[in-house]
Amino acid sequence: MERISWDQYFMAQSHLLALRSTCTRLMVGATIVREKRIIAGGYNGSVTGGAHCIDEGCYVVDNHCIRTVHAEINALLQCAKFGVPTNGAEIYVTHFPCVHCSKALIQAGIKTVYYAEDYKNHPYAIDMFAEAGVTVVQVPYHNLYNEQEQLQKKAFATGLLERLKQAGADEEELQRLQAEADKLFS
Ligand SMILES: [Zn+2]
Ligand SMILES: [Zn+2]
Repeated sequence: MERISWDQYFMAQSHLLALRSTCTRLMVGATIVREKRIIAGGYNGSVTGGAHCIDEGCYVVDNHCIRTVHAEINALLQCAKFGVPTNGAEIYVTHFPCVHCSKALIQAGIKTVYYAEDYKNHPYAIDMFAEAGVTVVQVPYHNLYNEQEQLQKKAFATGLLERLKQAGADEEELQRLQAEADKLFS
């Protein structure tokens, strides 16, 4: 059996963390890894015990939600809180880090940034990473489990429609159902 790669494994962890985000402006997850071991994780959210954007709405100033602690910062701060060194570590993030997070990652000694999706990739962040000798690699995330599940569902729906056709269902109705199935499983 094929095993998923380390990159996909850590990226999957970050995507799982992103689902815990409490700021819906952008759901981001970050996983810090050292020697193939997860040492910390974070997601976009308020300070511990604070109000959540999903409950109270975002606190927007100058087009930014100032309530949110970014996923990368949360992951770094988890290391600070528990005294875990980040020097030489790697980070897996769902989105390209913002300028502020990029600076923090460099200062914390992160050596490689793996990100899944481009997100307003700032040229200053790109320059800073290059100058600091931080390797930046895009790792597109494939939700392998989902993909397989989708294929199974699609096959099931196709089978059902085929049986409806054999049972003499109305052609127009069949076409409508087929279009709905196509939309669901595209
Ligand atoms: Zn928010
Ligand atoms: Zn950020």
